[in-house]
Amino acid sequence: MRALSFLFLTLLASSAAERPNILFIFSDDHALQAISAYGDRFKDIAPTPNIDRLAKQGAVFDRSYCANSICGPSRACVLTGKHSHINGFIDNNNSRFNGAQPTFPKYLGKAGYQTAIIGKWHLVSQPTGFDYWEILPGQGNYYNPDFIQMDGSTKRIEGYVSDIITDKSLEWLKNRKDKNKPFVLMAQHKAPHRNWSPAERHYKLFDGVTMPEPETLFDDYANRSVALKKQKMSLEKDFWWGHDLLLHGEPTDPRFRKGMPNGEYTRMNTAQKAAFDQAYGAENQKLIDDLAAGKLNDEDVTRWKYQRYIKNYLRTIRAVDESVGRLLDYLDESGLAKNTIVIYSADQGFYLGEHGWYDKRWMFEESLAMPFLIRWPGVVEPGVRSKALIQNIDYAPTFLEAAGVEIPEDIQGRSLLPLLKNKGVAPADWRKALYYFYSGEATHHVAAHDGVRSDRYKLFYLPKTDEWQLFDLDKDPQEMKSLHDAPAYASVLADMKKTYQELRAQYKVK
Ligand code: CA
Repeated sequence: MRALSFLFLTLLASSAAERPNILFIFSDDHALQAISAYGDRFKDIAPTPNIDRLAKQGAVFDRSYCANSICGPSRACVLTGKHSHINGFIDNNNSRFNGAQPTFPKYLGKAGYQTAIIGKWHLVSQPTGFDYWEILPGQGNYYNPDFIQMDGSTKRIEGYVSDIITDKSLEWLKNRKDKNKPFVLMAQHKAPHRNWSPAERHYKLFDGVTMPEPETLFDDYANRSVALKKQKMSLEKDFWWGHDLLLHGEPTDPRFRKGMPNGEYTRMNTAQKAAFDQAYGAENQKLIDDLAAGKLNDEDVTRWKYQRYIKNYLRTIRAVDESVGRLLDYLDESGLAKNTIVIYSADQGFYLGEHGWYDKRWMFEESLAMPFLIRWPGVVEPGVRSKALIQNIDYAPTFLEAAGVEIPEDIQGRSLLPLLKNKGVAPADWRKALYYFYSGEATHHVAAHDGVRSDRYKLFYLPKTDEWQLFDLDKDPQEMKSLHDAPAYASVLADMKKTYQELRAQYKVK
């Protein structure tokens, strides 16, 4: 009997030793279009070679989506494996994460994992269920950021936020207490979130380059709900002179929004300010001179805003990509790489000028999509591309199953393990459509809506105006025309409405 139980314990111990580590690298507002493994637009001009290492050595999911396209809610879905109406974090304005509820780090902790989160948290309450955490307050800052410590105090660290999060993540990996235990580390970046402030070494990156524009930069919003004209996330109308475009003082032209200065500049020390002014000064002055001379028509102004925005956005991504490289290098050097699952994802997608927008929230592809790249040596074959419909509620059950932890029945997502083990191919009973919800909070005035996306179609409902919107993504990938009243699509509309009701019932939406 004693010999048997010894054998059992030995088996347990050896299987525990083989359980994979999990390095979850998560950024904020990183759109697929800006990852070269996904999109062509910036592939040659602004590549992401380190994120692409995961694509070459692992799998890329082409149809990866969020359940609620905004920062806090997406994070709550990731932690719980449940939709917003169940985990309680509905929107960024009024929600506070209930830290008493179960999360995947808590389940993994109970199963013997060391757990840590470093960087952006953005769930209002303090993290629970982590052995170690060190987080940015709220949105956090790019320059000389503050970090909330586990004892509740705050430390200001000199430097650039993406580099500091990487340093702290490496430090935790190197110094973690019990090296025999598997770990889960969530390294979560602020970048490329607004206000798109680059590291000093990247200020001049893309100088002299004209970034390609999206085809829909001057979208007129015809053939879709009038709600598309009403939100405040338009490059043309809503970019602040200071906060978004990083210019000093008040706008010298009425086509720029006044009122919100660049708060990041005020955080810089004298040397940092000098470097910033040295980098942007001449270009800023040229804009001011051209505006004064009447050289820029309305389209020129929008184009200038797009170039300023997209270059800074892509510059912040350069630092994120470098961070991924440093973390992957450490896994290689330390020998951890072979037994560590590495994921790169972001809390939702983002408009990079498509439809004339920045920001997220809408159920259109650019903001509904989340990057999802995963490397897991020995399980995921290198170079896999998956077309399966996956969602951020699937991450938690995936991690649990990977760690050999039973998936609780109340988790709404599904483990990706069967797909990961089968070249990204979904089993026969995989979901045929996924459910999406956006609450319609006051910031940016995007109308409330919820809906479903299948392989080919997207249907969403706007309760305020009692409108349906239907898109055929095969024929109209840019979603320029709603087909909800097209006679040829009557049966598609009926089918999608049925799917919508079925998924709402399955996920217990009230
Ligand atoms: Ca976000």
